[in-house]
Amino acid sequence: MSKILVLGSLSTDFVATTDIRPDVGETVQGNSFFTTFGGKGSNQAVAASRLESKVIMLGKVGDDSFANSIVDNLSDNGVDVSCVESVTHTSSGAAVITISDSDNSIVYVPGANGCVDAEYVNKYKKEILSCDIAVAQHEVSEEAVEALANICEEGKIPFVLNPAPYRKVKESILEKATYLLPNESECKLLYPNLSIEEAVAKYPNKLLVTMGSQGVFFNDGEKSHLVPTFKVDAVDTTGAGDTFIGGFSTAISNGLSIEDSITLANLAASQSVTKMGAQGGMPKLEDLKNNKN
Ligand code: ATP
Repeated sequence: MSKILVLGSLSTDFVATTDIRPDVGETVQGNSFFTTFGGKGSNQAVAASRLESKVIMLGKVGDDSFANSIVDNLSDNGVDVSCVESVTHTSSGAAVITISDSDNSIVYVPGANGCVDAEYVNKYKKEILSCDIAVAQHEVSEEAVEALANICEEGKIPFVLNPAPYRKVKESILEKATYLLPNESECKLLYPNLSIEEAVAKYPNKLLVTMGSQGVFFNDGEKSHLVPTFKVDAVDTTGAGDTFIGGFSTAISNGLSIEDSITLANLAASQSVTKMGAQGGMPKLEDLKNNKN
């Protein structure tokens, strides 16, 4: 199995459900409370590890009581956390989520994720160069992502960039990405003057646009086409994109073609939406073998 480096965010979601959304200054009684692990970096690392990739995580936690559980969750999922650092006098990444009438209100505090910089990434150059592929998203600083892109370029390591959430990003970073995997709305923001069809045609075998329940649109150098995903009864699509990235990185770094890698990642992501929670439904390799339909 290949070795994957994931640079990204680590956080905890604190979720309260309530019938009445509180107004300013108001306190209301909630129905339930639970915590789940999140952060795109953490989700993608867990997704790849469940598919039996060896995964090294680069990211930071704070020095609060949540830090240990975030790191333990990664370890429990087989992710190598030896490069994860803790930042003093800083909170771990946290999303405080209120769900009322199936609508979300979210306060996201990056905390230690905001301290992931180029210096930190460069410190682990040796570990990065030991990997078969590297993955990053936009929940850590642009300078950190750029540092990873530069190391990958130097070491000729394929670099997967999931430009989510959308932010203005240096053209040079996009150029260094071997595979660029936005969802449909991120693609429209990245390339406002191009339709999805025009964008994938401009970046054949590189720009792969995830389209939710439809699948993934890309150009193979000859034609643009949709690789359909698998039909499932979706329960919760949170983390579908992250499962797709983990699956795609696993498949492509094991020598599968782009199209076959998309199919495997579609399978993993479609299974993930049949269960609650970002990481709750992420399948193991054996689940994929058992459930291919
Ligand atoms: P999220 O932000 O919810 O994690 P995303 O917006 O980044 O997701 P999507 O394009 O919605 O990403 O979904 C990613 C992939 O997940 C799709 O390409 C597909 O493979 C799979 N997927 C998502 N929704 C469904 C669904 N309803 N049925 C089957 N597969 C799905």
